Amino acid sequence: MKRETQVYLVGAGPGDPGLITVKGLRCLKQADVVLYDKLVNPEFLKEVPKAAELIYVGKVKGHHLLPQEEINKLLVEKAQPGRVVVRLKGGDPYVFGRGGEEAQYLEEIGVPFEVVPGVTAGFAAAAYSGIPVTHRDCTTSVTLVTGHTKVDSNEQPKVNWQCLAPGDGTLVFYMGLGNLDTICRELIAHGRPINTPVGIISCATTSQQMTVVSTLENAPQKIQGMEIPTPAVIIVGEVVSLRDKLRWFDTVTE
Ligand code: SAH
Repeated sequence: MKRETQVYLVGAGPGDPGLITVKGLRCLKQADVVLYDKLVNPEFLKEVPKAAELIYVGKVKGHHLLPQEEINKLLVEKAQPGRVVVRLKGGDPYVFGRGGEEAQYLEEIGVPFEVVPGVTAGFAAAAYSGIPVTHRDCTTSVTLVTGHTKVDSNEQPKVNWQCLAPGDGTLVFYMGLGNLDTICRELIAHGRPINTPVGIISCATTSQQMTVVSTLENAPQKIQGMEIPTPAVIIVGEVVSLRDKLRWFDTVTE
């Protein structure tokens, strides 16, 4: 930890409290203020000094409790020389959770910050469900993709299906459970074979972890009527078939 640093953007990992980094934990133990998200395991708050201020900035029933701008402002307001402010985010701070925007804001205002990486949910979900994200027999690449499949403000699709669908690269979709049918349909339409294995992993690394395995063709129908809790990631690719032999953690399945 550098002396002048005021804000630490810390990745809390995917759920299992054992998956935070040693450096992340050290930041928590020295924190004066902690701003934390919904996806952060509450176990971590026990590590924070008793006098520290804990601020929940996560979501309530699908709505952000605090808009992103408010979170940014709060970070800056709390930051002071000699004080340790920890912004604790689920998974890795720079994978989807808007950590990049928070860092940009701190940089603009001139608040010294550090980023402590975390184990991102997609990789953790893969490992804990017995799916190696790459494997020499299956693929040499893996891509993390947002499952928000709507068009952006310029009416362009957010996800570039033409690039993602062809080939054999493993695809890991975050925030995609509600769009599973679109994801499967677009991948098939842009060239991924219909029998490509799909794994849906919910509450990864926790005792509630649940994994459903299917194919691009059948997955949307298979999960109909199944109550799959969020958060969940969707993994697409031949590597998913390795789970048959490599599963070691979750027992509840399809
Ligand atoms: N920064 C986080 C991702 C934030 S976006 C990270 O690196 O992991 C939130 C999405 O992450 C969720 O919609 C879900 O797709 C995924 N996610 C987070 N925790 C998860 C978990 N324990 N199991 C499965 N997916 C999870």
